[in-house]
Amino acid sequence: MTALSTLPSSSTSDFSSEQKRYLEGFFAGIAAGGISFADLSGAPAPAPALPDGPSLDDLTKEERIKRELHPFDAIEQLVMDARWNAKPEPESVFRYKWNGLFWLNPVKDGYMCRLRIPGGVVKSYQLRELAAIATELTTGYIQITTRNNFQIRLIEPKNCPEVLRRIQSCGLHSKGAGADNIRNITMNPCAGYDPHELIDVRPFVNELATLIIGTKEFYDLPRKFNIAYDGGGLISAVEDTNDIGASAVKIEENDQGIEPGIYFRIALGGVTGHQTFASDWGVIVKPEQINDVIVALLRVFIKHGDRTNRKKARFKYVVENMGLEGVLSETETFLPFKLTRLKAEASIQAARSFSQQGHSHVGVYPQKQEGLVYVGASVPVGQLTAKQMQRIADLADSYGSGEIRLTVWQNFIIPNIKAPYAATVAKSLRKLGFPCEQSNLKSGFVACTGNRYCKFAATDTKGHAIAMMEYLDKRVKLDQPVNIHFTGCPHSCAQHFMGDIGLLGTKVKSESGEGYHITVGGGFGENRKIGRQVFSGVPFESLGTTLEQMLKGFLKKRETDESFHQF
Ligand code: SF4
Repeated sequence: MTALSTLPSSSTSDFSSEQKRYLEGFFAGIAAGGISFADLSGAPAPAPALPDGPSLDDLTKEERIKRELHPFDAIEQLVMDARWNAKPEPESVFRYKWNGLFWLNPVKDGYMCRLRIPGGVVKSYQLRELAAIATELTTGYIQITTRNNFQIRLIEPKNCPEVLRRIQSCGLHSKGAGADNIRNITMNPCAGYDPHELIDVRPFVNELATLIIGTKEFYDLPRKFNIAYDGGGLISAVEDTNDIGASAVKIEENDQGIEPGIYFRIALGGVTGHQTFASDWGVIVKPEQINDVIVALLRVFIKHGDRTNRKKARFKYVVENMGLEGVLSETETFLPFKLTRLKAEASIQAARSFSQQGHSHVGVYPQKQEGLVYVGASVPVGQLTAKQMQRIADLADSYGSGEIRLTVWQNFIIPNIKAPYAATVAKSLRKLGFPCEQSNLKSGFVACTGNRYCKFAATDTKGHAIAMMEYLDKRVKLDQPVNIHFTGCPHSCAQHFMGDIGLLGTKVKSESGEGYHITVGGGFGENRKIGRQVFSGVPFESLGTTLEQMLKGFLKKRETDESFHQF
């Protein structure tokens, strides 16, 4: 296979001058990113060597595809597909996910592009460029995901190289945003600003993100991998739903010989789609060692993850097979130091000094920087238009520091606003369609992509969530926050098992043919719990009345101070 940058003249002459221009720009963008998995001036890099383990014949189809041609070396095919505006081959569909491109067929003929935005920190100029990309090269549909990230859709094949080039040219990436890679790293969205936090986790997020983006080893995991950092602030990072969740804790005087100070505790193996929260590992780690430990854990996963069965390939199964102690001793083989085991769990008080408030990603909150506040806005099911993004960027520039933070609740925050301007910003955001007043109902809606754009979805989750928001808001007045999560299939991108009310899409016999299994009692953080199913296959046509009755029943029958989670 010939790399496109050195296409023979007979091939290059087939390109129009416009195509040549963007191809040059595309390769320049890759070079500027400092990442080269194929030698673009010669032959592609060889497929990665197999780790110790199963023979080629025993590997899953996906593992074989990776070994036949590393997904980053499929860039030539991607550009060829673009040239002819062609549908990708099945193998290419899998490989292109390494560039964050998801083929949406059969739902739509086109791609969705998922980005990487470490910690959800985005600058106003990046927001404007993403808005411009969405307007000029896609159908203009942008979504905030539950990993404080953006997805852009719908992209025709012919526009993919230009979309990737422009994403890179504004300092963002989509590398490794899908398939068997480390997904966008999440954190508390007001890290560095929250007066309650124990530690600002941004340096750890940035360091690990830089390491991941430039290290080939981490682009060949047995399956996807999620990492979150929680600095102990007001807004949770929902870290215990991740393969690795690192939570800051404050260790006081103790009888275990541990020096008092701030440490991280680590939880392992969370996959809410598999109804599993991460389990506490029983170690504490100094902040300066946290990324060494996370990298070592990634190497344990690369070495021991199951590459013969996709259903058992997540890190959770490594943890189950080896046990927490087994993972611990194996991790130490990748570290130049020993891990600090907790001898007596109960003697280490590691809790936050306050309780996390529900829906605190929405509203006006003081920062640790005197006189400054952050304003959190509610984005109905995470959907934005390009126009709205441009206006958000303007507000961040005019009143803040040009920075915007995305949250795992599919909302955003504008930080660094001088307190007297908070009301003006909130008013402008409200006018844009993003209320900044907490609604105990509306602020807690989360929805995955749904069947408008996702081929796995049984239901129109986003459309249904918006309809339910309107329906319930007129009929039920809640005096405490309730989270309602809509997810379209068992992959559970909207993490329905941890919602106060969780809705899992399913096909039913009704006019719409769409309905939901309903779970209740889920929670996260200090209320972590997998929800239990109480209804199955409720048609969308009767979903409103069912949810209304559930919420009104709770208000009527609860005991004083009882939360929906406890009910
Ligand atoms: Fe698609 Fe299923 Fe994820 Fe929803 S949960 S976005 S339907 S894969």
